[in-house]
Amino acid sequence: MKRAAIFLSVGLLSLGLVSRAQQAQPAGSSPWSADITAIRRTAALIPGRKASRINVLKFAESHRTKNFSVKGEPASPSVQARTVFQVVYPDGYVMVDAGMDEPMHKQIGRGAEEPYFADQARQVDKALRGARAIIFTHEHGDHVTGVIRTPYLAELAPKTILTRAQVRTLETTPQFPDLRITEEQAQRYHIIDYDRYMAFAPGWTLIKAAGHTPGSQMMFIALDSGRDYLLIGDAAWHMDSVRKVSGKDAPWIVEDTAAVGDQLKWLNALSKTESNLVIVASHDDDEHKDLVARKLLGGKLE
Ligand SMILES: [Zn+2]
Ligand SMILES: [Zn+2]
Repeated sequence: MKRAAIFLSVGLLSLGLVSRAQQAQPAGSSPWSADITAIRRTAALIPGRKASRINVLKFAESHRTKNFSVKGEPASPSVQARTVFQVVYPDGYVMVDAGMDEPMHKQIGRGAEEPYFADQARQVDKALRGARAIIFTHEHGDHVTGVIRTPYLAELAPKTILTRAQVRTLETTPQFPDLRITEEQAQRYHIIDYDRYMAFAPGWTLIKAAGHTPGSQMMFIALDSGRDYLLIGDAAWHMDSVRKVSGKDAPWIVEDTAAVGDQLKWLNALSKTESNLVIVASHDDDEHKDLVARKLLGGKLE
């Protein structure tokens, strides 16, 4: 054990990782890391047919220049897609994220007049009502409002799965006051907690990834076809952040930048070594259009 620890620290030192990680981390927190082999192993823990496909639906847009999403990029026009994802199994589907109503869209837009697609928003509500479960990449308003301020609360809450970290943010430091819930209200939802990885469904691993928010998690999903997906939520707003290992530069968002930096490095490495893995960022409109065109994502909910 001791020998292994010494071997490991020598290995890390020789890569220059220890000193860099120590500098980058705020006191008391440890560097973020994840292991794709352990994640794949976890995804195989629950028996059953894997999901057959993943759909994406855009219900609104924010128009923000590229420099906010990717530090160092020019202030060129860029569309942030507001989205939900639907993971379809042979006997039902799970929704990833729940969208938001138009008032929250306006609040997030901070005064800007930006498109909100009422038809698509209705499709999101319909899909939430038909889902077996609803789970979240993180606790920001554009992802969770659909299960917090909704006429269908009584119906949706029992199948809404929030992590303890997500609940903690919503109770103590919500992105907007309207999102605040009490512990009593939290008890209507299905609350889970786990350490690093959790087997969630056949082929599906939840990956703890605090950084963008304390309750952020990534989702590894292996499809029946053999293709693997990694839904990364808002770890990157645009995949150029992964390609360039350059995070956001948005003053209105407070992140653990060291943890997000570790995540971008990990994702960048995966994008080079895992040719069968499709990494999907929640808001990258360019990427979604490309993946839908290549039939790697479905472009509508079912
Ligand atoms: Zn977010
Ligand atoms: Zn978001």
